[in-house]
Amino acid sequence: MNDCIFCKIINREIPSTIVYEDDLVIAFEDISAQAPVHTLVVPKKHIKNVLELEDPQLMAAVFNAIRKVANSKGVDESGFRLIANTGDAACQTVKHLHFHILGGKQLTEKMD
Ligand code: AMP
Ligand code: ZN
Repeated sequence: MNDCIFCKIINREIPSTIVYEDDLVIAFEDISAQAPVHTLVVPKKHIKNVLELEDPQLMAAVFNAIRKVANSKGVDESGFRLIANTGDAACQTVKHLHFHILGGKQLTEKMD
């Protein structure tokens, strides 16, 4: 996936602030943070969206990384929002599966 910006981050072709990494998953800071904590958790394999996340080992690795990032960012106690925009109606702009971890402030009830 030559044109994928997240594959380029994973391959260190473009810079990012990486906060967690293991064999299967990477997490880095969103370049346009919408909250004091805004980290993206991304499988290293190029998967388009959550509907293509079929591999149980990768699923487990993604959620393990989400827990690790939530802990290290200090939002485990306070709470955070986990978002996976999927497809055009949800305004998914990067077509490589990613989970947004948003927190560090009181978020609103608004989900749209
Ligand atoms: P989505 O709309 O769910 O596809 O979210 C894509 C997210 O990727 C947005 O929040 C962007 O700010 C973020 N993003 C785009 N390019 C980069 C980049 N080079 N480094 C970090 N985050 C990025
Ligand atoms: Zn990709």
